[in-house]
Amino acid sequence: MFDKIVIANRGEIALRILRACRELGIKTVAVHSVADRDLKHVRLADESVCIGPASSTESYLNVPALISAAEVTDAMAIHPGYGFLSENADFAERVEESGFAFIGPRPETIRLMGDKVSAIESMKKAGVPTVPGSDGPLGDDADTNIRIAREIGYPVIIKAAGGGGGRGMRVVHSEANLLNAISLTKNEAGTVFGNDMVYMEKFLENPRHVEIQVLADTHGNAIHLGERDCSMQRRHQKVIEEAPAPGISEELRQKIGQRCADACVEIGYRGAGTFEFLYEDGEFYFIEMNTRVQVEHPVTEMITGVDIVREQILIAAGEKLGYSQDDIHINGHAIECRINAEDAETFMPSPGKIERVHMAGGPGVRVDSHIYNGYVVPPHYDSMIGKLITHGPTRDIALARMRTALDETIIEGIKTNIELHKRLIDDCAFQAGGTNIHYLEKKLSL
Ligand code: ADP
Repeated sequence: MFDKIVIANRGEIALRILRACRELGIKTVAVHSVADRDLKHVRLADESVCIGPASSTESYLNVPALISAAEVTDAMAIHPGYGFLSENADFAERVEESGFAFIGPRPETIRLMGDKVSAIESMKKAGVPTVPGSDGPLGDDADTNIRIAREIGYPVIIKAAGGGGGRGMRVVHSEANLLNAISLTKNEAGTVFGNDMVYMEKFLENPRHVEIQVLADTHGNAIHLGERDCSMQRRHQKVIEEAPAPGISEELRQKIGQRCADACVEIGYRGAGTFEFLYEDGEFYFIEMNTRVQVEHPVTEMITGVDIVREQILIAAGEKLGYSQDDIHINGHAIECRINAEDAETFMPSPGKIERVHMAGGPGVRVDSHIYNGYVVPPHYDSMIGKLITHGPTRDIALARMRTALDETIIEGIKTNIELHKRLIDDCAFQAGGTNIHYLEKKLSL
């Protein structure tokens, strides 16, 4: 087992990783920017290293600084968390070449899944259902592209193979706009992602976002932990997540989950991962795989009892999975609200000093947050300051507990989106379950 781990991240996920390390008796190294000296996990870690100025390019994305931090502290492994370098194959490679364990998949797997065209291709091969689309990247022949779109049927979406963060996509409703959309997306993809490869998919009009959590060890074992529904989104950013997804039968869960677990074995996947699907009319369509821990992992932990971050660490240390598929049972329902330092109506970021904070408690309430009285939310990073998670024997009880927990939560000094969450928890359609990915934006535009 590792003796010491570098936590190459900040905020709530850094604290989450530190907690898992403590439970396992592993020492921790917090690396932080100049602006993040006062982060909660920096104070709690066994050691800390300042790796650069506030700008993330010079700190949390600074590969040489991170590797040196691991060297000078004599650490054995690096946990990348989510965001930053977590899905950067070159970073994973550098970590391993420098003699440390990367707590995540092998660099080749990250590379394979980072290119959407190769990811889709390998998923198809493994029997995972994908969105009807072009077989691989689009070429330059106009007639062929027109034919492909006709075969798929309009509307279609043109997507960059190297795209991410909801960028590099264009929806096409009719043939008149097709060729122009392809060349625009190609140009944009070349400039923004340095890779002008694009592909075409059927554009699903009212899908839900449903994703499957998997764990795979280095001994050929893989399991799934069921699904999460993350359809409540604004600008492709998830706002509320829940598990299980409303209306998914146990039979369908097992079927799609097993496909994902089998695909992991097929591609030699290592660690925790998420298969993202669009779900429409009872069918799953793979869109991409995230090769890291997700922000929303707690809802799965709450209903399965599996500690995903702990498993990531154990797998990276070469241990066998402690669970077989038969050990995994879904217990009740869990919901997560992402608490952001932002105006609940305009969504403008609201960094600054937290004058007073009082977090919720009680049965089935979990708070994953790094904030405390007097903590100053820096303006340089993502505005998420924590996650409020509730669990209950039924979805209604989880919702009721969330309502109570949101009412109990007091954060003063900065603005937060708590009022938005209260509105959403009280929303009739959300309460009924199964709203699609456009629901929140439509509601907000009313
Ligand atoms: P990114 O890596 O940028 O997040 P994704 O492939 O995950 O890109 O797509 C992001 C979002 O774009 C999806 O969650 C969905 O809202 C929308 N989207 C992508 N592909 C399709 C599609 N074929 N039909 C409908 N919506 C899509």
